[in-house]
Amino acid sequence: MGGEAGTGAAAIIRPTERTGAAVSAVLIVLVLALVVAALTFMLGRQGERMATQLCVNVAATVALAVFSGNSGIVSFGHAALMGVGAYLSGILTMSAGLQGSALPLLPAFLAGHELPVGVALVVVALAGMAFSLAVGLAISRLAGASATIATLGLLIIVHSVLIGARELTRGSQTFYGVPRVTDLTLALCAAALFIALAVAFRESRHGLRLRAVRDDEAAAQAIGIDPKRARLIGWAVSGTMAAVAGALYGHMLGAFSPTTFYASLTFALVAMLIVGGLTSVSGAVIGAIVVTLAQDGVRQIEGGFTLFGLEMPALFGLTTVALALLILLALWLRPDGLVGVREISWPWLARRLSALLPPGRAAPESTPPPESGDLDVARLTRRFGGLIAVNEASFRAPGGTVTGLIGPNGAGKSTIVNLLTGQDRASAGQMRFGALDLARLKPHGFAPHGIARTFQNIRLFANLSVRENVLVAGLASGLTRAEASTVTERALARMDLTRRADTLASALPYGEAKRLEIARCLALRPRFILLDEPAAGLNPEETRDLGERLARLSAEDGTGMLLIDHDLGFVNRLSSAIVVLNKGEVIATGTPEAVRADPAVIEAYIGRANRPVTPALAT
Ligand code: ADP
Ligand code: MG
Repeated sequence: MGGEAGTGAAAIIRPTERTGAAVSAVLIVLVLALVVAALTFMLGRQGERMATQLCVNVAATVALAVFSGNSGIVSFGHAALMGVGAYLSGILTMSAGLQGSALPLLPAFLAGHELPVGVALVVVALAGMAFSLAVGLAISRLAGASATIATLGLLIIVHSVLIGARELTRGSQTFYGVPRVTDLTLALCAAALFIALAVAFRESRHGLRLRAVRDDEAAAQAIGIDPKRARLIGWAVSGTMAAVAGALYGHMLGAFSPTTFYASLTFALVAMLIVGGLTSVSGAVIGAIVVTLAQDGVRQIEGGFTLFGLEMPALFGLTTVALALLILLALWLRPDGLVGVREISWPWLARRLSALLPPGRAAPESTPPPESGDLDVARLTRRFGGLIAVNEASFRAPGGTVTGLIGPNGAGKSTIVNLLTGQDRASAGQMRFGALDLARLKPHGFAPHGIARTFQNIRLFANLSVRENVLVAGLASGLTRAEASTVTERALARMDLTRRADTLASALPYGEAKRLEIARCLALRPRFILLDEPAAGLNPEETRDLGERLARLSAEDGTGMLLIDHDLGFVNRLSSAIVVLNKGEVIATGTPEAVRADPAVIEAYIGRANRPVTPALAT
């Protein structure tokens, strides 16, 4: 293992990530601009129309990607949000004369505004935000497929309302008279702005939080992230953008009906996102380009054509079939989309640019004074149906020291950690950290009180870089960017991961993944860490190295630790006291020497068979 980079590494923080993001945004806009230029150059007026449609599609897909890309939840509801924006902007900008004949029953407060489109777009953005916040309160409570189904519900409800609210929308009849102001310039500017917004959101603390929740909700909670809140913020930003994109679409079409914002638009949007790659803004844009061009191509064929004198009949629905095939093909050949999980980027340029910028103000090392709290567990019980996983367990793990928690497989060790960090609820008993009653806290309420944990089966944010995995914890604990960067670099150095900072977490070998989980804890500047088998699966060399790092942590920071492991030699070396658990009950507590000599412990570990006592009982 390499030497300790020490705390000095934190002194030079260069804003590389953000420069990298800016470079990505510029590259993505350039790609789009090139395609637009090619279309208008090669196809003239028709190319300009296609390019305008393309830019509106990019804006809409990027809006969708702000939620779906960062949360991993596919939304079918964004076409509805676009519809709300389009109708609202149409009503606000329509000439009073036309409004009189087209919408005679319009309520007075909406009638006769004739707003300039720029002003109407601002109103649409505000109304879109209010609407998506209201809807988001319900949707953000759900995760995964349930959330997707809720967004489908939103699509259907909004569609029905658009048809039903005849006074506002002319029902299922065509809504006409919307000023056609979305030309190529406006559409391209909007697409570029949306790309910049989406990249900025992705890199922001809100974006990072949401991506952490996407990759592992339990791990995100353990570093203090409230998943519902993270989803709500992403949904609201995304919904606001979708409403504006819808308004632009409406001003491109000039006339539309509720079906314009229904199934086929939803399908096209989702296709664009999936084909290009769900997790990146680059993916959304590339997807929009590929799908829009494919759609246009297929549409030429759909109406029937003549090939070598052969009359081909019109094939209705061909576009939809082509989209479906495109999605299937993408999912089959490139499950992460054409772009993959990372943004299009140019690291060399990003490094060069950030070297030109003044180094970020290195924040003062902000390790809080380690007020050491004791972890107190009294008669803690957890039943799973008939099985008692933890049975009236009582022990104390004093702050500032390492307490070992050992016991055979299935003894209830992980269950205790889950109870002590809110991942699971106790059936009975008390848990205190100093004066704090832990039973009252939500799963994301532990980290702010200085309690951090690792998981027995590693839980990292797979699609975040190693550095981001740690940074997001620092940011979630309320630090500023500069402070969080300082803390992150230090934590990476202490776990010997500095060289790996830009690697995706999913690409780490096992031993380094284990250390990254601990580095992530360190960014929370915890007063107490619960380590669930940190050395499991490590070779003896790695185990010894990890032991030294943990001992140094405990000595330098005064961090309390509850250390679970099967390697008794490892636990004995680090712990000042040991708690032995068997079948959910505490059968011994004391110094490592006392516990090792305890007949009950020998009995539990070795059973009645007369096998020799080995220091490492790894399973
Ligand atoms: P250890 O970490 O000491 O190996 P665990 O705490 O993982 O043990 O498990 C203790 C017991 O509780 C085991 O018998 C296990 O099967 C059971 N158990 C753990 N979690 C659950 C659960 N969610 N549902 C049902 N049984 C569980
Ligand atoms: Mg376990």
